[in-house]
Amino acid sequence: MPNIDWKNLGFAYIKTPYRYISDYKDGRWDEGRLSEDDKVVITECAGVLQYSQSVFEGLKAYRTKDGRIVTFRADLNAERMVNSAKKLEIPPFPAERFLEAVDMTVKANEDYVPPYGTGATLYIRPYVFGSNAVIGVKPADEYQFRLFVTPVGPYFKGGAVPITLRVCDLDRAAPHGTGNIKAGLNYAMSLQAIVEAHRLGFDENMYLDAAQRKYVEETGGANFIFVKEDGTIVTPLSDSILPSITRRSICYVAEHYLGLKVEHRPVPFEEVPTFAECGVCGTAAVISPVGAINDHGNIIKFPSGMDKPGKITQKLYETLCGIQYGEIEAPEGWIREIK
Ligand SMILES: *Cc1c(COP(=O)(O)O)cnc(C)c1O
Repeated sequence: MPNIDWKNLGFAYIKTPYRYISDYKDGRWDEGRLSEDDKVVITECAGVLQYSQSVFEGLKAYRTKDGRIVTFRADLNAERMVNSAKKLEIPPFPAERFLEAVDMTVKANEDYVPPYGTGATLYIRPYVFGSNAVIGVKPADEYQFRLFVTPVGPYFKGGAVPITLRVCDLDRAAPHGTGNIKAGLNYAMSLQAIVEAHRLGFDENMYLDAAQRKYVEETGGANFIFVKEDGTIVTPLSDSILPSITRRSICYVAEHYLGLKVEHRPVPFEEVPTFAECGVCGTAAVISPVGAINDHGNIIKFPSGMDKPGKITQKLYETLCGIQYGEIEAPEGWIREIK
């Protein structure tokens, strides 16, 4: 077993022994392999380095209460990566091979799957990039798919504390652009905004739709979940939002486990002050409760306050985590055991 203090693990890269690699050349993906070599060697003119032709995914492996190792809805990550790749003219890595690569790499690094009860998990990072020389603007001819894993600590040590957002004047994604795919280029776009938000004392940015600045989009890396006073869940609908698997799962759990109504529709920013609770969701944190949103000095405070998550946010968080850790029965097909 590696010598890791699981309970005090943060969210930083820790090298593990094995990663999965497959190369695309002459119009086909090769059979793939595990490797102990963490270094990527590519030409200085690689497509990814010049024109950012690259997409990625993020998911986790969990150690359940009864000691099994499982992934959560990994088929949706595989499918989403196919969609992301198509949009950047990258040959998709087949979904069933994606799942095999996850299983093989997690299994090979089994000792790095944190024990149940520590709140730590094994983060899985698949990605594809254009690897041959490209200088005139066009898609690469060769690609590499890689998948590494790294243990990460609980996102919130000592409980989820509500965060404060600010409404951002920069845009994350254009209408009809790449906002709905998981591409590093969207994150490069958001760095200036996030650095500025932190400098001003905010935790994250709330982006509004780029065309009209009228509707809520998402933060740089998490989707919004709002709760109405009557308990109805509302999540923004837009073509430039990344389809979060956590958000889709939370909506299912709200409806089928908690008996709540769910609305997936455009959410005007004007409506935000009427909500009782707010959270942002993604694989890393599940749900981060939002306590306040600063719109150019006009502060929206949610009734749930700045000390703890709102009641429904908390319930959704506990139910989803319970499913991931095998404490609550999962819907058919959500959990994939790695043997
Ligand atoms: C990955 C990501 C999310 C969260 O998606 P999950 O599937 O829930 O992890 C939200 N927004 C953006 C921009 C993302 O890249």
